Amino acid sequence: MSAERTEWWGFSQEHGWIVHDREDPRNVSGSLIIHFFRCSDSAEIVIPRDEWEPPEIRGFKRYLASIANEALRSLAERQLLKCQGDYQQTKGARLEGIRRDLEDQKRAEKDERNRRISAKHEQYLRTAGLPAHGRATFVRFVRNTVCWKCKTPINSIDDLACTNCRGIICHSCGACFCGRE
Ligand SMILES: [Zn+2]
Ligand SMILES: [Zn+2]
Repeated sequence: MSAERTEWWGFSQEHGWIVHDREDPRNVSGSLIIHFFRCSDSAEIVIPRDEWEPPEIRGFKRYLASIANEALRSLAERQLLKCQGDYQQTKGARLEGIRRDLEDQKRAEKDERNRRISAKHEQYLRTAGLPAHGRATFVRFVRNTVCWKCKTPINSIDDLACTNCRGIICHSCGACFCGRE
């Protein structure tokens, strides 16, 4: 995609020149917070979607057209070109960093979720008077089902499996098939 199609350049009363890049993976359609890059200090800023409106923030063409004084307009134009040039220099590394952070965050959330499920599963086994039998594992086959005990929808992609009965562990109540009557 060309930069013109992915970058939205505008002028904010509060922040000056800013750019919204559609390649920024945090700017998924429908998100209520939009991530912008502020040119004056290369800072990351977030703006609620509904505040992304004139006159607070205007697209660069409208903003430039609104400057009556020709000298000031050409000054603003030069500032914008400088910002755009600077942005292109760092854009690749910046977007790469954002993608990496997102992946790290997703991995950390997944690890945390798995820890919680494992703890619930151990609790389930203890309550059923069954011995714990090692760490829960990932399931290799694809299956969607519901927990026999609490009826929560569970699946083999997101949830863990019991190393003993091979059943999917319910992320809500920790049940597997061990101890099922
Ligand atoms: Zn359950
Ligand atoms: Zn089990």
